[in-house]
Amino acid sequence: MSEEKKSLNFIEQIIEEDLSSGLNPEKLRFRFPPEPNGYLHIGHAASICLNFGLGEEYHAPVNLRFDDTNPAKEEQEYVDAIKKDIQWLGFKWDKELYSSDYFQQLYDWAILLIKKGKAYVDDQTSAEIAEQKGTPIKDGVDSPYRNRSVEENLELFEKMKKGEFDEGSHVLRAKISMKATNMLMRDPIIYRVLKKSHHRTGSDWNIYPMYDWTHGESDYIEQVSHSICTLEFKHHRELYDWFLDQVYEDKKLRPKQREFARRNLSYTVMSKRKLLQLVEEGIVNGWDDPRMPTISGLRRRGYTPKSIRDFSETAGIAKRDNVTDIALLEFHIKNELNRTAQRVMAVLDPVKLVITNYPEGKEEILIAENNPEDENAGSREVPFSRELYIEREDFREQANKKFFRLKLDKEVRLKSAYIIKANSVVKDENGEIIEIHCTYDEDSRSGSGTEASKRRVKGTIHWVSIDHAEPAEVRLYDRLFTDEAPDSHKDKDFKDFINPDSLKILDNAFVEPSLKKAKTGDQFQFQRLGYFNVDKDSTSEKLVFNRTVPLRDSWAKQNK
Ligand code: ATP
Ligand code: MG
Repeated sequence: MSEEKKSLNFIEQIIEEDLSSGLNPEKLRFRFPPEPNGYLHIGHAASICLNFGLGEEYHAPVNLRFDDTNPAKEEQEYVDAIKKDIQWLGFKWDKELYSSDYFQQLYDWAILLIKKGKAYVDDQTSAEIAEQKGTPIKDGVDSPYRNRSVEENLELFEKMKKGEFDEGSHVLRAKISMKATNMLMRDPIIYRVLKKSHHRTGSDWNIYPMYDWTHGESDYIEQVSHSICTLEFKHHRELYDWFLDQVYEDKKLRPKQREFARRNLSYTVMSKRKLLQLVEEGIVNGWDDPRMPTISGLRRRGYTPKSIRDFSETAGIAKRDNVTDIALLEFHIKNELNRTAQRVMAVLDPVKLVITNYPEGKEEILIAENNPEDENAGSREVPFSRELYIEREDFREQANKKFFRLKLDKEVRLKSAYIIKANSVVKDENGEIIEIHCTYDEDSRSGSGTEASKRRVKGTIHWVSIDHAEPAEVRLYDRLFTDEAPDSHKDKDFKDFINPDSLKILDNAFVEPSLKKAKTGDQFQFQRLGYFNVDKDSTSEKLVFNRTVPLRDSWAKQNK
């Protein structure tokens, strides 16, 4: 199957090797294992695209497994949001599963470990246990409870389960070695007492299994062939395999853990714990704030499933930690919207322009192309009249030769309309321009075929007819952090790098009337400005738009 492919990533190579050494392709199975303690982010998208991508490539099932062993932090809200995001990205899981469904089996296996003399109840505090752990160059110290009898261990573990012990008073530990070079092998904890209600099992359990014990055994129960996780679990692989050895039965498939580098994105943070802080401290307006690197934030911002999948594909998977430039993500959405987004005119910071030689009360319907990149996109009608709004920054009384927009005594073309020349301005008592008076060349209408219509002027500016315009609020987003890697500074908190100007609200914008019927999520190119979509906060009185991405990256220029 791989012949026509250009190159395989290292995970695909591992799978190919397994297949050529006899693994039945029908046994291939993958899983995506989120902990439901937050919303998915663009880093998770890397793992989703990798696992579900392998599923598609090898026609193999992919389980969605909620890794819900920590009742303190997990909630149904997150389960629902995670499912929604994966579906939105366009992937289908085979089975929806929960680690908590295996609590009984994991417990039974823990009993088996005790009976084999491979697990014991430790009555020490976590601080005492940590102290005995040793260091990579110093052996650990055996717990005084390490050599308890099987009977005593069974009895104590039963009491832990029944809730007879307080949190923190007892743990169950695997009996491996306190001298292992891999610190994780030094008698790791497999169960702790936690008297918390669980989002699925309620108050059934007073003990909860630890990640390492749960994860590999869950893979085994589900018969996952390749359990792909991120690099920080590399050292856990030895323990993963040790745990599997304890329960493995002949003829069953033995899951294989392999690791790849986490996706990090510049100018943001990617840990759910940190993202939760931003939400809880009100630094952003929820998990789906368009500045968040969450899938729901990106969706609200105007990112499409395809742009995120294309981004994941190009960014690829790596064996070493690295930071992906956020510009790559922006490139993919710009690329897509350039092909698909309808062009419209919107004025974000309006100033009034009066065409003094245009008849009062006259209205014309002009025809504008919907998308020059797409010949099937057609055209639309845009009303024109004597009084228009143009962008305040598109006019200067005086300016040098490099200013190709409107200035006194000079001409520009109004997009899809006429050539105008600015003659004078009206100012208020503070000296601010409130009106620009100009005249138009009646014969210069775009597309009319006249000599004047073909006349070339240096600049073209966008506009909306005041009588016809729809009021709008436009939200301009910038990077949420001013630093490329906000959580990489030892002596500083990531929140010290919050960009105070990450959201700018323009609440006096106007858009052309064709947008009146726009619905939440609809995407447009505001000509000369960027790509925008309709936010869910829109009402019938006022449209609200998010800027997905500007046409040009002014940010790079300012800050380099
Ligand atoms: P976080 O630190 O953001 O909470 P996590 O790894 O604890 O992340 P999980 O819900 O446990 O989050 O992750 C589910 C899956 O997604 C795991 O297989 C994990 O390795 C993977 N994953 C999480 N973050 C990233 C990332 N930044 N890049 C690639 N894969 C990731
Ligand atoms: Mg986690």
